[in-house]
Amino acid sequence: MQLPMIIVHGGAGAWKDERIPVGVKHVGKAAEVGFDVLLKHGSALDAAEACTIYMESCGFLNAGKGARPNLEGILELDAMIVDGKNLDFGSVAAVTGIQNPVSLARYIMEKTDFKFFAGDNAKKIYQKMIEEGYRRELESGIIDLDSSSPTGDTVGCIVVDKDGNIAATSSTGGIPNKAPGRVGDSPVMGAGAFANDVCGASATGYGEHIMRVVLSRMAVLYVEEGLDVMSAARKAMDMFERKTGSEAGIIVADKNGEYGYSTNAKAMPMAVVRKDIDHLELRVCTG
Ligand code: ASP
Repeated sequence: MQLPMIIVHGGAGAWKDERIPVGVKHVGKAAEVGFDVLLKHGSALDAAEACTIYMESCGFLNAGKGARPNLEGILELDAMIVDGKNLDFGSVAAVTGIQNPVSLARYIMEKTDFKFFAGDNAKKIYQKMIEEGYRRELESGIIDLDSSSPTGDTVGCIVVDKDGNIAATSSTGGIPNKAPGRVGDSPVMGAGAFANDVCGASATGYGEHIMRVVLSRMAVLYVEEGLDVMSAARKAMDMFERKTGSEAGIIVADKNGEYGYSTNAKAMPMAVVRKDIDHLELRVCTG
């Protein structure tokens, strides 16, 4: 077994060649941040949240501070966190004015009777979360709308702790030129991410089509049916492409720390750490 482990993606898409090393660098740092939490005896959820916060806050990926604006120039963020151990999740959609929607998603999962909040009312839950001291704002939660234009893609990760508990995330500003109020796959359980006590997955790409085939759940199902994780990732992507003709990417990891990945997009920057922080693998998955 190769535990604990973390696998991170920085989004599948038409990355400009010169931006790919930047994406790889930041997913690598995010993997280190998450793995460090695991070494300090954090849970899979703690590590997945910390890793995703890094990517939301770095300003170089399409999530949080660096998110791609909608057609009206507003950053509307979607995010989800999935707890495979308890088959549970929390999600937020179209939330504005905050930097780390993944933490809000976790708060919703752990501290409310609900799973999924959208829009202005999600922002009210965020304010409650801060007031209660569930999370501290390290920087102002107000996103700088003048921040540099987005350069990366959606982010996500899967963490498997030393006991085989799995957590997964996804966080995004959405696809280019999205209409105000549009929500993609990223906060939708089973589509943008999924995890149970066997396997986890996190997807990226055109959310409209990822939702049609419930991509992350399908990848995990293939593992439950007996495929190894790499074959499951490839089978999920083949199925996705055949049924939708669209572009996406996926990462998959099982409870033993085996992992797989696949994309039919130009590039998907990835990072993996297993067992030991010295074993950081950086990779660009290509379609
Ligand atoms: N899946 C995201 C969405 O549709 C976008 C992406 O992965 O780049 O919102």
